[in-house]
Amino acid sequence: MKIGIVGSGLVGATTAYALMMRGVGREIVLVDLDEKRSRAEADDILHAAPFAHAIDVKSGGYQDLTNCQVVVISAGVSQRPGESRLQLLERNAQVFRSIIPNILNYAPDAILLVATNPVDVMTHLTVSYASQHGVPSSRIIGSGTTLDTARFRSLLGRSLGVDSQHVHAYVIGEHGDSEVLTWSLVSIGGIPLEEYCRLQNLNVCAEDKIIIEDQVRTAAYHIIEGKGATYYGIGSAIARIVEVILRDQRSILTICTPSENILGIPKVTLSLPRLVGGDGVLATLHPPINDDEQASLRHSAKLLSEVISHLE
Ligand code: NAD
Repeated sequence: MKIGIVGSGLVGATTAYALMMRGVGREIVLVDLDEKRSRAEADDILHAAPFAHAIDVKSGGYQDLTNCQVVVISAGVSQRPGESRLQLLERNAQVFRSIIPNILNYAPDAILLVATNPVDVMTHLTVSYASQHGVPSSRIIGSGTTLDTARFRSLLGRSLGVDSQHVHAYVIGEHGDSEVLTWSLVSIGGIPLEEYCRLQNLNVCAEDKIIIEDQVRTAAYHIIEGKGATYYGIGSAIARIVEVILRDQRSILTICTPSENILGIPKVTLSLPRLVGGDGVLATLHPPINDDEQASLRHSAKLLSEVISHLE
């Protein structure tokens, strides 16, 4: 099982390390414009193999992506001083316009997993570029709000004193400021949040919810302010998505892919809980969220749709 990673900066290299630690795949190929960097990252991660799993890690060019089952795309340019988010987006779109055909030339059957930000828009563009090579949208997955969902679950788990693996909670919509934390769906061990708190004599009051919501929404800002970039959380999230695909696990993940219609907004790419397996996106779930959450999701879809139409 071979995995490619295009863009082996902080996110790409951490993904490779997380794959090595989880024992996912048999071979990992790192591709980057900066070949010296990708070679150094590959060597460094390979040296962890005796302490983790028998996975070969090497650097290479696009031709080395042949036979990859999944190719992660975490290549991106960073913001220049004075550059707007939209200008940055246009430059990243330019990068993807050259990367996607190169990948598909050598790995035409691979599932493409996009992490580059703004991930919803970059995934939408990837679907559009890949469709010109006959690739269906089900084979394009954006990491979407997988990381935000993990942040929500981990903070809830800590606040309730329960392993976050037993906390079911989803962040949907944009991976960004307009994302929606679906409090109405939160359950612990199959018990709705309010009921769980009553049974356990816990008091998660409105104030606690506001604090958790704020910590989820501002997590990236704080981490970037403290150390310049975020990569452990997203690297682990991507490794998990790759595992779900390679092992055909049919897991429910809040990844992004295009939807025909989100609450009246046509053709927009954002995150909802989706069934993911060996063939990529298998189904989209529309959980019964409350009226406020629906209004917030519609707002998020509208914002994304405006950016997408601007680019198109
Ligand atoms: P980074 O600058 O460390 O790495 C980016 C890498 O892309 C660099 O090594 C660069 O050489 C490479 N690159 C640029 N153009 C390329 C091209 N044409 N072909 C091949 N490689 C190319 O940045 P990072 O911290 O690793 O972040 C990467 C992306 O991931 C950013 O867009 C970032 O915003 C995003 N990100 C997404 C999430 C998420 O939840 N989806 C979380 C964190 C970061």
